[in-house]
Amino acid sequence: MLNIVLFGPPGAGKGTQSEKLIASYKLVHLSTGDILRAELKNNTSLGKKAQEYMNQGLLVPDDLVINMIDHKMDEYPAAKGFIFDGFPRTVPQAQALDKLLNAKGTPIREMIALEVEEEELVKRLINRGKDSGRADDQDETLIRKRIAEYNAKTVPVAQFYTSQGKYAGIKGMGEIEEIFAKIASIVDKIL
Ligand code: AMP
Repeated sequence: MLNIVLFGPPGAGKGTQSEKLIASYKLVHLSTGDILRAELKNNTSLGKKAQEYMNQGLLVPDDLVINMIDHKMDEYPAAKGFIFDGFPRTVPQAQALDKLLNAKGTPIREMIALEVEEEELVKRLINRGKDSGRADDQDETLIRKRIAEYNAKTVPVAQFYTSQGKYAGIKGMGEIEEIFAKIASIVDKIL
């Protein structure tokens, strides 16, 4: 199986590049942000628990997210592979994902990280907020809080995969197609 972590700060282009990846490689896209927003919209008990964190730009507790991803993966028994987008976001999440995937005999093959400068991220997110309808993209303070959460809790996840020899960093600035071409060349090497 081709399991890939698409990594990067909020606004790095993970959603956009995931769409292109699933179209080209027929993989299942698992975005914890999208799943959580759906739970919130459907007013589920998970959605209600997650909401207070999401509204403040904070990460949702690990156990909630890990459980959620475990169940989601089981919904796709015939998957050729998964693109994990926005997950794992902490080292305990990365450890839990390793455990889940090792039990299934299908480890993460590569983490592909989109590297984008902070001021560019803020600009992109403010722009996205104009038509995305996402409450957390409407307010610059909340945007900066999410980036601070990323720097404090998510950046160490890159080291976790680097130590397994699975980290591939690419510049996430420039044309969408150019960035995708770089991602595709990494994926083609591990196919
Ligand atoms: P995203 O769409 O990936 O930017 O996620 C939106 C929000 O959902 C984040 O600001 C967090 O509150 C929450 N979230 C998404 N993925 C995770 C995760 N893996 N761990 C904890 N919280 C998450």
